Amino acid sequence: MEILKELSKEGKKGYRLSVLDVPEKRLNQLIPEKFLRKEKPGIPEISEPEVVRHFVNLSILNHHVDKGFYPLGSCTMKYNPKINEEISRLSSFTNLHPLQDDETVQGALQLMYELQEMLGKVTGFNYVSLQPAAGAHGELTGLLIMSAYHKKKGRKKSKILIPDSAHGTNPASATRAGFVSVKIPSNEEGILTPQILKEHLDDDVAGLMITNPNTLGIFEEYIKDISDLLHSKDALLYMDGANMNALMGYFRPGDAGIDILHLNLHKTFSAPHGGGGPGAGGVCVQDKLEEFLPVPRIVKRERFYLDWEYPYSIGKVISFFGNFNVLIKSYVYLKIMGYDGLKEATEQSVINANYLLKKLKDYYDLPYKRRCMHEFVLSGERFKKFGVKTLDIAKRLLDFGFHAPTVYFPLIVSEALMIEPTETESKDTLDRFVEKMIQISKEAETNPELLKEAPKNTPVRRLNEAQAARDLNVRW
Ligand SMILES: *Cc1c(COP(=O)(O)O)cnc(C)c1O
Repeated sequence: MEILKELSKEGKKGYRLSVLDVPEKRLNQLIPEKFLRKEKPGIPEISEPEVVRHFVNLSILNHHVDKGFYPLGSCTMKYNPKINEEISRLSSFTNLHPLQDDETVQGALQLMYELQEMLGKVTGFNYVSLQPAAGAHGELTGLLIMSAYHKKKGRKKSKILIPDSAHGTNPASATRAGFVSVKIPSNEEGILTPQILKEHLDDDVAGLMITNPNTLGIFEEYIKDISDLLHSKDALLYMDGANMNALMGYFRPGDAGIDILHLNLHKTFSAPHGGGGPGAGGVCVQDKLEEFLPVPRIVKRERFYLDWEYPYSIGKVISFFGNFNVLIKSYVYLKIMGYDGLKEATEQSVINANYLLKKLKDYYDLPYKRRCMHEFVLSGERFKKFGVKTLDIAKRLLDFGFHAPTVYFPLIVSEALMIEPTETESKDTLDRFVEKMIQISKEAETNPELLKEAPKNTPVRRLNEAQAARDLNVRW
């Protein structure tokens, strides 16, 4: 595709000025000569329809959720209602300055306060912080709270246990928070059992981080026993709640003995993300951990205040208030859905995933054979003998206008294909995806070369991904 500069032609204009009704003056009569440039600026000259087409065409070079199905496991690429955007762009929000006196931003504080309350109600916690800017940032915040809890009790515990079915950010966050992360196995069904935990639980364990549903898309059904066991050693249970879109309305982590939970507002609560876009990773805690939450906290008396007076707080984890614009979107989503709507979304996401699982399980390997929650993991192991890798399958899907599933994750499944349809996709879309997935499984056996050359219909063909990471060149 041509860039704007290449489309430029001298004399073309994308604007029309009204007739001059003041005396005309030359530029050097207004601005001293020495400040004027000698050459024309390299601004493209181009008509309005051409500019519009240029940007519309650019916007569809990449795949995105407004363009097509995006079953990227773990990432919850659900449709983002456009009303979220409308409301988050109201000038009464966008013209606020974060340093304004709290008396003058009562509406913004109220929105955050009410969002905390709604999230607390969905998850079963009384205390929520909206500061963290992403899921992993929520993990770090939660672990710093865990650390502060043990410190206040006058002890140092160094280990965080993490099952092998947890999300990859978990061990990274534990290390970043100053703990040693210890990987423990899940059982043959893909979940953590109290027996396995017992083998690894000692007085040096500060807590356990569990992803639930885990990265295999399976619900951790021993969660209450696991919590009791940990509490018997005064260790804490952290739940990675990025997958709450499989649980809303059905399971409240706060009721099941979980001490700390983070949410991915940009996944579960429908703010657009990906491409490094902004997120929000709210953290929910049990009452016993409330005093450690980040400051300032929003409190409600006769009006809303920012309260810094928490001597045991871990402090601030972000400048100002976090990604306020993302918070508005989640607020709107929650208001529109209501609790019954959230419950329905959960049902739909689980039904959609199980529908795909059932339709595809005979054409791909299914390492953990049980019903899934909102996502599931297949394996492309059986195609290896034809020289076809999971990566080839993923690339071939792009030819049909689908984004590929997550590949090679979780690590406990070889040649993994992790599929999350989300609740917002229709049966027609799922059926089209199934049809192409089955076609690809057949092509893998009969025409492996075709897959290895895919994609053919995309703006760029197969990229050398390692080179892009090591030798980045963004010049044109
Ligand atoms: C996406 C995800 C994370 C990380 O969230 P970010 O917002 O990308 O930092 C953590 N855990 C799970 C289970 C996730 O799906």
